[in-house]
Amino acid sequence: MIKKILILFLVPFQLYGYTILLDPGHGGEDDGAKGELANIKFSEKDLALTLAKKISKRISKKHRVYLTRSYDKSVTLEKRAEIAEKLSVDLFVSIHVNASTRKSANGFETYYLDHHKDAAVKKIESVENRNLKGQELVVHQILTDLIVDRTTKSSRRLGQAIHSRFSKGIKSKFRVKDRGLKPGLFYVLALTKRPAVLLEIGFISNSRELKKLTSEKFQDEYARNVADGIMAYLKVLKKEKPPLF
Ligand SMILES: [Zn+2]
Repeated sequence: MIKKILILFLVPFQLYGYTILLDPGHGGEDDGAKGELANIKFSEKDLALTLAKKISKRISKKHRVYLTRSYDKSVTLEKRAEIAEKLSVDLFVSIHVNASTRKSANGFETYYLDHHKDAAVKKIESVENRNLKGQELVVHQILTDLIVDRTTKSSRRLGQAIHSRFSKGIKSKFRVKDRGLKPGLFYVLALTKRPAVLLEIGFISNSRELKKLTSEKFQDEYARNVADGIMAYLKVLKKEKPPLF
């Protein structure tokens, strides 16, 4: 009898795998970064959503996948974290597009939550963290210190698993620059309190790069790289069976 009960509980668990939350950055009134190509306007919020849907499609064959938003609407950073908590997700991936006043700036980068002293990264943080102010910010700074200690190692491993896929993927196939796997203090990552990374897929402010970012072929390859990375990370996790945060 005990054996039967155990099987009943274990089988669905094995079948459904892990729970992943994909987070298309910005949305609604918050367009995120903006760019233009042949008089057509593009925004970070739309590109991020398109990418999130493509990644979701690839992972959902093996795992449960949720999106923090599935259409164009405003979602606060706190709400995104609340969704992660409610669904008890195993990992969180936030998707963004970079911009710079320097038109030639280009390339993709992957961030995991950790302290650092990189001034260039601080600039990007100030953009992605901007809907937090005053008291809220102080609370989150304290919270971040605690979460960094508990999640950095697994977040870096998740970041590595994803980022390493880009070398043979988008980097060699579309000749985009690898800006690296870096530590960053993004509050949306800290607030989720679980292994989490933030992806900057490229620069919307660079028209040559925007052409690539908006092409279906690039988007499919990018989604494939990210999905493969996430699944490789989960495979190792399954073998090691460490306690999930
Ligand atoms: Zn963003």
